[in-house]
Amino acid sequence: MTKISTTDDLTKQSRRSGAGPSPSSLILSDSLHPDAEPGRDCPLCPRLVEFRSLNRTQHPDWFNAPVPTFGPRDARLLVIGLAPGLQGANRTGRPFTGDFAGDLLFATLGTYGFARGDYRAQPDDGLTLIDCRVSNGVRCVPPQNKPLPIEINTCRSFLAATIADMPKLRAIVMLGRVSHDTTLKALDVRAREAPFGHGAQFQAGRIRLFDSYHCSRYNTNTGVLTNEMFRSVFASVRAYLDS
Ligand code: SF4
Repeated sequence: MTKISTTDDLTKQSRRSGAGPSPSSLILSDSLHPDAEPGRDCPLCPRLVEFRSLNRTQHPDWFNAPVPTFGPRDARLLVIGLAPGLQGANRTGRPFTGDFAGDLLFATLGTYGFARGDYRAQPDDGLTLIDCRVSNGVRCVPPQNKPLPIEINTCRSFLAATIADMPKLRAIVMLGRVSHDTTLKALDVRAREAPFGHGAQFQAGRIRLFDSYHCSRYNTNTGVLTNEMFRSVFASVRAYLDS
């Protein structure tokens, strides 16, 4: 049985400077938060800006910019990954689209009623998310798929703003340890009260947090994450939102 930490104390009122909107503002916003989406030329992470510039030169037909959140703002579910893949979301401009991980993610979202239409790995495939949004903790593609801690910390302001910009948000799925850690910080949840574990659930105020191993090619190829394990997380999300 999944153990759920239910204390509202997970969401702390004592926030660190620069971590984003205050917890009291989370899920209460009625208007688009001005900082939820970085500009195409966001200058805040020099290494990623340099990589972006290189990719724009080498692949001028690719998106090559911070990848915006996909899905309706009034969704109750937010899925948070790590960062765009070079030839996936960074190329197509839609989270997980063209990445190997998107095959499993969007199929699973469809199974549990969070997506409609055929996913064909391109942003004009007509896939629609239902009551669900998908984003990343880091919006720009990092070299070797590995953002630096300072880049994760810097981009967290956009993650916090995205969370604050979802007035009906009730559930977050955190894909992998990096997503788990940065989401907890965005919500001011203390890490020791919410240790990462596949299938773990935590309650932070009105938001239920669900942990999952990332649906990356590496994790699925090595058996760290099976399709069944991944589906079980979204089955739990569906049951929670329907309860
Ligand atoms: S990762 Fe985030 S903060 Fe850094 S440059 Fe890209 S959009 Fe800006």
